[in-house]
Amino acid sequence: MTLLDDKTSHTVKISPSLDEIEAWLREEDPKKLTKLWHAADQTRKRYVGDDVHLRGLIEISNYCCRQCAYCGLRAGNTRLERYRLTEEEIMGCVQQAVRFGYGTVVLQSGEDYGIEREWLANIVRRIKTETPLAVTLSLGERPDEDLIAWREAGADRYLLRFETSDPELYRLIHPAGPHRREGNRIEILKFLRSLGYEIGSGVMVGIPGQTYQSLANDIDTFRALDLDMVGVGPYIGHPDTPLGARVEIRVVPRENQVPNTELMTYKVVALTRLVCPQANIPSTTALATLNRALGRELGLQRGANVVMPNLTPPQYRVKYEIYPAKVCIDETADQCHMCMRARIMRIGRSVGSGQGGRKRSEPMANNQGKTYT
Ligand code: SAM
Ligand code: SF4
Repeated sequence: MTLLDDKTSHTVKISPSLDEIEAWLREEDPKKLTKLWHAADQTRKRYVGDDVHLRGLIEISNYCCRQCAYCGLRAGNTRLERYRLTEEEIMGCVQQAVRFGYGTVVLQSGEDYGIEREWLANIVRRIKTETPLAVTLSLGERPDEDLIAWREAGADRYLLRFETSDPELYRLIHPAGPHRREGNRIEILKFLRSLGYEIGSGVMVGIPGQTYQSLANDIDTFRALDLDMVGVGPYIGHPDTPLGARVEIRVVPRENQVPNTELMTYKVVALTRLVCPQANIPSTTALATLNRALGRELGLQRGANVVMPNLTPPQYRVKYEIYPAKVCIDETADQCHMCMRARIMRIGRSVGSGQGGRKRSEPMANNQGKTYT
């Protein structure tokens, strides 16, 4: 089916098919893309409203036992100085989240077994009993017993990007870990949902070896999993990783390789909103790193409804180097907070209050079969 047709005054189909998603990813015409941005923004407004939710990010450890070929925290990166926050340091960041009026804290780290099950469960319990915050965890592919214990302690959500739905590419960039032999993140997401977590996932845009077809399939997989949260950001090469050092992992013809550009990331954000209209979608730090002036705002105007101000103390923040030249690493939590608020206000949106979990209610008007013109 034609996605954009001059005879029908540029209609954009809501819930596009797999082929249509791929056609959009390849679309370069600025006029047609303006229609896509508009459709994503209208869908966002209709389903999740104008509020932008603030999730306070706390990077609790940069230790990692995994060897992901793309990530600066990989165990093989011996140049990185490692750190792990203490319980009191984490609770200090949590108190800041409360002071700033955030509804959620996100505890993120490498896959670090120095973070012990009971130690973290106790911190989750403290946050849930001492504050009104929702707790999101993003701690990698931990064993079932850990995921169960943290859910029982009160954790609300879990983020685990499946990175790519292409099994061959996944195997090449994501070697198996110690606890889950297959490292099948999609299976882990299903398990997390069965435990009652809200689940979030996502992919990087433009990893070497990623084709248009596989990226279209990733977006279709977001829909199939009915994700509560979807995070997508550009792949940014880190020189101390195999992929960043340009070790060829899989060669695909030039015309099939997805570029890791800002524009491509906006397309993925917008299409994600069309296939997962109720999801919470962040305008990511990786996107802001590509366009420091306006990346966050444009993400919010092309489908996103969440931002994640960083609460990690600055002396540790510089060491959470997933990729180089990350934006905002020198800012204090106060500066980050003020900056995010100002950016939200400048584009005429409101700062969300409360925990901002997934909305499952029907939109203001039924969107089924709707097209935007
Ligand atoms: N260790 C946990 C995990 O892997 O799920 C959470 C932390 S990990 C650093 C968070 C995300 O960073 C990954 O899921 C990946 O998509 C993203 N990431 C890693 N390396 C990246 C890179 N070079 N460019 C952009 N994003 C990257
Ligand atoms: Fe570790 Fe996560 Fe980075 Fe993989 S993506 S190396 S699991 S921090």
